[in-house]
Amino acid sequence: MSDAQSVDVLVAGGGPAGLSAGLALAARGLQVAIVDPLEDPRHDRRTSALMVASVAMLRALGVWQRCVEAAAPLRTMRIIDDTGRLLRAPGVTFEASEIGEPAFGWNIPNAALVAALREQIADTAAITLIHSTVEQVDPEEDGVAVTLADGRRLSAALLVGADGRGSVCRTAAGIDTDSWSYDQAAIVLNLRHDRPHNDVSTEFHRPPGPFTLVPLPGNRSSLVWVETRRMAEAVATYSDDELAREIERISHRILGRVTIDGPRGSYPLSGLIARRYAANRVALVGEAAHVVPPIGAQGLNLGLRDGAALADLAGDPALSGGDPGGDPGSNPVLIAYDRRRRVDILSRTAAIDMLNRTLLADLLPAQMLRSAGLAALGTIGPLRRMAMREGVAPAYGLPEMMRG
Ligand SMILES: Cc1cc2nc3c(=O)[nH]c(=O)nc-3n(C[C@H](O)[C@H](O)[C@H](O)COP(=O)(O)OP(=O)(O)OC[C@H]3O[C@@H](n4cnc5c(N)ncnc54)[C@H](O)[C@@H]3O)c2cc1C
Repeated sequence: MSDAQSVDVLVAGGGPAGLSAGLALAARGLQVAIVDPLEDPRHDRRTSALMVASVAMLRALGVWQRCVEAAAPLRTMRIIDDTGRLLRAPGVTFEASEIGEPAFGWNIPNAALVAALREQIADTAAITLIHSTVEQVDPEEDGVAVTLADGRRLSAALLVGADGRGSVCRTAAGIDTDSWSYDQAAIVLNLRHDRPHNDVSTEFHRPPGPFTLVPLPGNRSSLVWVETRRMAEAVATYSDDELAREIERISHRILGRVTIDGPRGSYPLSGLIARRYAANRVALVGEAAHVVPPIGAQGLNLGLRDGAALADLAGDPALSGGDPGGDPGSNPVLIAYDRRRRVDILSRTAAIDMLNRTLLADLLPAQMLRSAGLAALGTIGPLRRMAMREGVAPAYGLPEMMRG
């Protein structure tokens, strides 16, 4: 590794999870390089609902101040049972004010978030952003050697695998995965509408999956519409006008007349979970570690918690053996990271899967379970508040920079 450029931490992947992990690690005094092939990150047309803990992290990193104007607060969340089944759950409305928060979170276009993360990185002397692809990873006893597509060689004490669901870092570390898919796809687009959303996010529970309207600034909203794959293919052939009328019908015109604002995307629903989150000098963050269906706005919130937790541990002299200058990729750091992330990732993946399957199921017991759960959330005060708090931030093990 002698002719290679050396850093404390190399991050493979400059999506939102990798960029925020890089900033969090640099905030702990570590020298960081981030590798991503994309020169222009504006290709991602999704929006992300980020809960207050995630926003606290982005604020602490100096990122939120750069993109807050592109975000809209989520002050009220409403679930409406539109399954049309005999046994229907009651409608439930949650107000952030009930748990003393101004909002549960904010909805922001991924492109605006990634642009703000990149701006902050450009102003951070401890981080270098390299436009290339990680091609080969060789974990060694005292560090990891990485070869890029342009032939450059880098070495680091810790490699952060933030290179998405097909992660080469995960494979190089010898980490297996469990993966599964659903016969559903999420149709994603933005809308303009003539009635205000009043900062209310509305989720219609329908038999093919949730249909969720999430506020954007002004009279605009993003839509995540989960359908069967066959129906999603049919919807892709609709003209903008036909699509707008269908959205008005499904949403019972709660936003009045709607028009389609920009291009549409379609994402087949699937799940993936790494069997370990760290091994052999590699720590996985974001979708390299876990992919969940876009139900309940959990994916990137989990990914940001990965990066913040890793920074807590890699920057802890008791684990890395130095202040900072120790070994951020040491076994104690990796073992602690794997342990720290396990409950959060597994419990949320299981909850999303269960919610999705009880919606799809035509079986009465599954419908009873879902209706009873929602009825309890609607009427039992302490349970309601506990669920709201847990949705905003996990009660256990919240990383330091997310505590606001
Ligand atoms: C329809 C939809 C709606 C969603 N809504 C929400 C929401 O409301 N709230 C929420 O929290 N989450 C949401 N999510 C999830 C969220 O979008 C993802 O969790 C998040 O975008 C994943 O970010 P990431 O950085 O892990 O991965 P990615 O964005 O996939 O980034 C991976 C990066 O790695 C780079 N890369 C790949 N291979 C290499 C390599 N070999 N070397 C170097 N770089 C490499 C790629 O260029 C890319 O930039 C949603 C997802 C979907 C599909």
